[in-house]
Formats: sequence, structure tokens, C-alpha cells
Amino acid sequence: MNWHHLPADEVIELTGSSTNGLDSDSAALKLAEYGPNELQEKKKKPAWVLFLQQFKDFMILVLMAAAIIAGIAGDLTDTIIIMVIVILNAVVGFIQEYRAEKAMEALKKIAALQAQVLRNGKPLALPSAELVPGDLVLLEAGNVVPADLRFIETFSLKIDESALTGESVPAEKTEKKMDEIDLSIGDRLNMGFKSTLVTNGRAKGIVIATGMQTEIGLIARMLQQDEAATPLQKRMADFGRKLSYIILFICLLLFVIGLLRGEKPLNMLLISISLAVAAIPEALPALITIALARGAKRLVKKNALIRKLPAVETLGSVTYICSDKTGTLTQNKMKVVQVNADENNQFVMEEMPLLNVSMALNHDVKESDNKTLLGDPTELALVEYFNEQHPDKSFAAMQSVLPRIAELPFDSDRKCMTTVHKYKEQFLVISKGAVESVTAALKEGHDKTSILKQADEWASNGIRVIAFGYKCVDALPEPFSYESVETELIFAGLAGMIDPPREEAKLAIEECKAAGIRVVMITGDHPATASAIAKQIGILTKNDLVMTGKELKAISPEDFDEQVEKIRVYARVSPEQKLHIVKALQQKNHFVSMTGDGVNDAPSLKSSNIGVAMGINGTDVSKEAAHMILLDDNFATIVKAVKEGRRIYDNIRKFVKYIMTCNGAEIWTLFLAPLIGLPIPLLPIHILWINLVTDGLPGLALAGEKEERDIMSRPPRSTKESLFADGIGYHIVWVGLLMAGVTLGIQAWSINHSGAHWQTMVFTVLSLTQLGHVLAIRSDRQYLFSQGIFSNLELLGAVLLTFILQLGVIYLPFANEIFKTQPLTLQELIICIAASAIVFHAVEFEKFIKQKLNNRKKNKVGA
Ligand code: ADP
Ligand code: MG
Repeated sequence: MNWHHLPADEVIELTGSSTNGLDSDSAALKLAEYGPNELQEKKKKPAWVLFLQQFKDFMILVLMAAAIIAGIAGDLTDTIIIMVIVILNAVVGFIQEYRAEKAMEALKKIAALQAQVLRNGKPLALPSAELVPGDLVLLEAGNVVPADLRFIETFSLKIDESALTGESVPAEKTEKKMDEIDLSIGDRLNMGFKSTLVTNGRAKGIVIATGMQTEIGLIARMLQQDEAATPLQKRMADFGRKLSYIILFICLLLFVIGLLRGEKPLNMLLISISLAVAAIPEALPALITIALARGAKRLVKKNALIRKLPAVETLGSVTYICSDKTGTLTQNKMKVVQVNADENNQFVMEEMPLLNVSMALNHDVKESDNKTLLGDPTELALVEYFNEQHPDKSFAAMQSVLPRIAELPFDSDRKCMTTVHKYKEQFLVISKGAVESVTAALKEGHDKTSILKQADEWASNGIRVIAFGYKCVDALPEPFSYESVETELIFAGLAGMIDPPREEAKLAIEECKAAGIRVVMITGDHPATASAIAKQIGILTKNDLVMTGKELKAISPEDFDEQVEKIRVYARVSPEQKLHIVKALQQKNHFVSMTGDGVNDAPSLKSSNIGVAMGINGTDVSKEAAHMILLDDNFATIVKAVKEGRRIYDNIRKFVKYIMTCNGAEIWTLFLAPLIGLPIPLLPIHILWINLVTDGLPGLALAGEKEERDIMSRPPRSTKESLFADGIGYHIVWVGLLMAGVTLGIQAWSINHSGAHWQTMVFTVLSLTQLGHVLAIRSDRQYLFSQGIFSNLELLGAVLLTFILQLGVIYLPFANEIFKTQPLTLQELIICIAASAIVFHAVEFEKFIKQKLNNRKKNKVGA
């Protein structure tokens, strides 16, 4: 259908719509007919595929093959047990992964875009997936076009269609019928296409295609690409690959040594392969995803919605937080506290100064059904002030006396907004905006210096100043643009408003300072207003600098590089300059978080390390570009998220440490035993059991560990730092060796004494040392007993459960048969527990030594 070639009313008719939009019944019918307005993502894997994937690991397959061969050759129970354990392993992995996936899906739903439509003549916000052909969509700057539309009304509408056409300059749109039929997408100027971005103006459009029928759907270009692996996962997978070669080599050696000692080849084969399966950390990347997804789920409870999973992992590394002022650091509850109508101005209308007329007319505030006012806080404050001054008048009535016939919407580059109203035979042009913007547009003869001086005075008290100007003209200029309209104005007056800082921002900023994170305020507001607020909340202190957008433009890159780390407040900057600031900070190796809410903020959000959009007052475009969305628009939430990010990263390090140490212990034990003349200590089932139960259960519970006490009083960790930094590599080696030493010691002792139960003892000791270890590494710094045994109940439960399962394996007769174990005497059990406790105490002692070393280092630095 050539929608662009049809007149608007025909489009309305053909789609079964009306100027009131669809009614809800026919919309529901159409939704059933056309399906949801969604781009199909890559086919989702069904659950059973996800389950089967748990077996795709090569070593698991080899293990199962070997088990079957061994079963045919000899003991069938062995085969069955190995199969059962492998399947259990897969089930556990599957459940974890499935839950993580569901959690991420739920988060995506929260982040889904809303569309404004008219239904039954009433405006309504809908999830854009529910749009159907014929729906009448209302668009404004900052929206993502939710479906393919034919416009029926446009006001200075501009759309960035680069996602579709590659053209980077936004296209100016119209509602007029196109004469030519054969037009490329980029030339269909009366149409809007799904997933493109409204950069300017407002419009109404009729939906003509949804979902996969849209242009973007047809070329099947997926906007939602696969979630790429996070940097940590990539490094982990890479490391795992290298490690697995070493492990395979060791297993091969073990096999050969076993043969030389005269073991049965098939048995030795099973042991070697089991060890390979147990020790190769193939599940670690998946475990990291699960931990990150769990983290994202927790973050949303703290009002931080993660859009890109890697952000969870890197949040903790933030060294700079660049924040908007209005609404993020302040409450966004503006109130007019001071006005100054220009007394030279005798132009009076409706018995009020023109300043007040302007407040009633120049804004996009709407009154909802229940009389509450909705709109931009700055404009709300002005309208509320008008209402207070003129209780007998309503701004809506004023607007019908002086109807608006054209406008130039506010944008934060020119910091001004203009409306044009029909006034008798003439046109009344009203502009409001930043004082500099409006004074620059005043005509000759005004005392601009004294206006600016007064505004400065107000601003230095933290007051946000808005200036008004107007003019009457006989005809609208052609072309209608801000260059031709916002000029030759007459001054109408000033309005000053306050926007109190958020209480919690001050505490959050203090926390940042302790955590080695610098906070910078970036605002379009006046430097004096910005500095006053920045001082109140502790961003700006004695030696810090304030820079304006103008200065930023003039300064040489070298000078800026030199100063950038001293600047705490940027005022009167345009959104494009935010990108400049991000780049300069990143040049200095900073890890930058940047907030933004407008259309023009998208580039700086994208190129910052953690781009943060506003959930309440942010535009769709900024949300699409962001890594994280603040559901409460609150600065303190960023800091909470950083803290949570640090906790999650710490915990990932902890379970990597745990699992790698455990794997190491298994290898050392099996490999060293024959070398010191002991028999092969464990059977394949024991190895697999330790891998599944002892390793798996408590390991994941570490991800739920509470934050370290000093989490916000230590400097950020670099994202480039290895996961094994900070002594974790050494820890894995020495604790693994210690575990093996203790285990082999018990083996030797037992064989020399009673002897009969030695294998059960070895199995039990190796199992229990893991539990001692996991309790000790819950905190990097605090001792278990000062941290509190009960502060991670999930982990305590996992440890107890594992302990009980282990007792079951030792003492239940049927388990004895399966696991080839014997009931230990009480004395033997106590010996096993005591031996395992050695590892626990040794790791606690490691903390003590580390503390001493740290203190010494600190003293040295201090001296
Ligand atoms: P910020 O949100 O950081 O305060 P903005 O870019 O929103 O920065 O605003 C910059 C300046 O533009 C404000 O200081 C004010 O003078 C002016 N301004 C803000 N909102 C409006 C508006 N709705 N209409 C006209 N001028 C505005
Ligand atoms: Mg603003």
C-alpha cells in the first residue's frame, strides 16, 4: 500500500480508524488478528534444548561413553550412578540457567517502551507491543516511533531515521500527501517508521503497520542483538580453555601412572575422565551469568533497572559519576519564589502584566481529569504561580482566548521555547528561556547588562531564573525557524524559582568520596545557580573548579585535559559537550558513569562506561541508549547501584576462588597420591559427588554474600584487573595443596592404622575441607565469627545440607553400596572433622597475615 500517496482522511478510513483513534473493542479484535507489535527476536531456545545443552560439554560426553564401556565390561551399578550424577548435574545447571533467563526477561518487560495513543478519543499510555493498525499515536520529541505511521498532524517534526536509512541528519516531516508514488523510504516525508527517533516537535499519526510488517521488521534487522558475553565471561572462558589443556595433560599422566602401578585400565580411564570432568571449570562462565542476572534482579528492587547485563559486572569500577542537576540531585519540585515583571512594559492584556500572560500561555502543562497538573517541573512552577496570582482565571481559558497556532519547542541547546498565539488581527510571539538566551533575542534599546546582573544575583542564591520576551507581528516569518522568530523581542520580565536539593544526595556524595568516586554536576542551568546547589550538597569544595559551556568551547584540548580532573561543576553546557567531557575523562583512564534524560544525551550515554537514563522524566531515546535506568530518577540510586555492583563482583571473585581451589584440591590429591606411594585415593563416583554437591551447593550461595564492611571505603577496582589479582591466584594454589596434604595425610595415617575405612575417610575429609573453606572465604577481611555465622543463611543451609548428605553417604546402608563407603567409627569421624578444620583455621589465619601486611604498607605510606 502506498500510504504516503493517500490523503490523510483516506488513510484514516482505510485503517478503520477515526480522528478519535480506535475504540477499545476493535483494538482488541485487531490485536488478535495482527498479533503484538514486536520484532521477533532470534527464535528462543525451548526448555528442552536448554536442558540438552547442559550435556554438550565434550568431557561429559567422553565420561558417559567411558561409563557405558566400563558398564558393559564389568560393574553396571557404576555406570548407572555416573549417569545419575551427570544428569543431576545437568538438572541443577538447567534450573539455574532457566531462572536467570526468566529474571532477565522480566527485567526487559519493565524496560519495555510505552506509546501514547488516542483510544475512544482519550489519551492513553500503552505498552507499544499492544499497538494495532489504525491506532492514533501521539508523538513528541524524545519518543521512539513505536510502529510504522502515516502522519495526520505535525508540528516542527524531525525524525532521526539513521537506523533505517543510514542518513544521519534528521528528516523534516509533514502531514501532506506526497504526489509521487515511487518514493524510497527516506523520501516518504509524511511517514514515520518503527524504531526511528523523534528528535524534535510533535505529531499525530495513524499506525499502518506493526511488528514484523513494519519496514524495520521487513528488512529483519534486529535491534535487540544477542546479549554478548560480558568481559569477565570472555576472560573466564579464555582462561578456562587454557586451563583445561593443563588438566587434560595431568589426567593423562594420572592414567599412565595408574597403569604402571598395575591398576585396571578401564578403572583408571574412568577415574582420569571423572577428574577431568570435575576439575575443568567449564561451568564458570554460566555461573557468572547467573550471578549477574541475580544481581540485576536485586538491583531493580533498589530502583536501578539494568538494560545490559555487563553493566552489573562493571558498575563497581566506576571512578567518576557525572550527574544531571535538575531532578537527579534536586527534588525537581520547583517553586516560583521571586518575579520581576518589567515595569517599563505597559503592555497589559486581560488586566495582567504580560509576564503573567506568558506564564499562562507558553508551556505544555496539561490538566488531567482530576485537576492535577502534568508537565515539565519548570513549567509547572510557572503555571502554579499563575494560578496563585489569578485564582479567578484559568490558563486553559486564556489559551482559548489566545489560541496557540505555532511553536518552537524547548531544546536544551538554545535553552529557549517559543509559542505563537492569535491576537486580534495579529500574532503574539512569546519566548521564555535562560536569561542569556532571551536577552540575546531582545531588540535594541534594552539595558541587557542590568537584566543579566539581576539574574546573576538571584542565581547566586541557588535560584533558577527564567526570562520572558514577546513581540506582536502582522505575519509569521517564512521560513518559521528560531532564527527568524526568536529575535527583536521586548523584555517582559524574570521569574525565579527554587528547586531544593535531595536530602539523600548529600549522604550519597559523602559515600562516593569515601569510595574514591568523584561526583561531577553537569547542568544546563546558570553557573551561579549550579554552584550554589553544588556547594550545598558537597560536590563543590574550596579548590574545585566550575566551567561553563562557553569556556569549554573556547579552551584548548590540552588545557582541558589538564583541568578536567579538577572541575566539579559544568554549567550552561549543551548535551553535545557531555560527550566531550566523557571522552576527556576516559582519556585519563577514568571509568565514567553519565546521566542524561534528553534526546541529545544519547551519544554521551552510549559512549560512557555506564550510561544512566531517567525512568520518570527521561525520553525513550535516552533510555534506549542507556546501560541502566533509574526508576526513581534519584542520584542516590546510582550510588546504591555502584555499591551493589561492587558486592556482586566481590562475590563472583569469591565463588571463582572457591571452585578453583576445590578443583585444585581434587587434582593435587589424585595426582600426588601415587607419586608418594599411596593407592589411588578416590573412586569416580566420589570425585563426581564432590564436584556436584560439595562444590555446587555452597559455591552458588556465595553469590548471596552480604557486602564487605569496607565496600564503600576502598578505591574502585579497575576493570582491567585480573580476576585472580589480590592474592587469589596464590590462595587457590596454596589452599588446594593444603587440602590435598591434609587428605593424603589422613589416607596414610588410616592405611597405617586400622586401614579398612581409609577410602571413606579420604572421601569425607576432602568433602568436609571444602565446607570449612567456604565458611572461611565468606569475607575477604573479617573473621567468620566477627562477621556472624548467620549472616548468610542460604550458605549456612547449603553447608549443613551438604554435611548431612555426606553423613548419609557414610552411614546409610544403601548409600554404602552405591558409593562403596563404610560407616566410620565415631573416632574416625571426629578425626575427619578435626582435619578439615585445619583448612578453615589456615584460611582465617591468612586474613590475619594479610591485615598485618596491609597495616605495614599503610604505615610505610604514611611515614
Ligand atoms: P537542567 O535540566 O540541567 O537544568 P536544561 O537543559 O533542562 O538543564 O535547562 C537549561 C536552561 O533552560 C534552564 O536553566 C532554563 O533557564 C531553561 N529552561 C529549562 N526548561 C525550560 C522550558 N520548559 N522552557 C524554557 N526554558 C527552559
Ligand atoms: Mg531539564
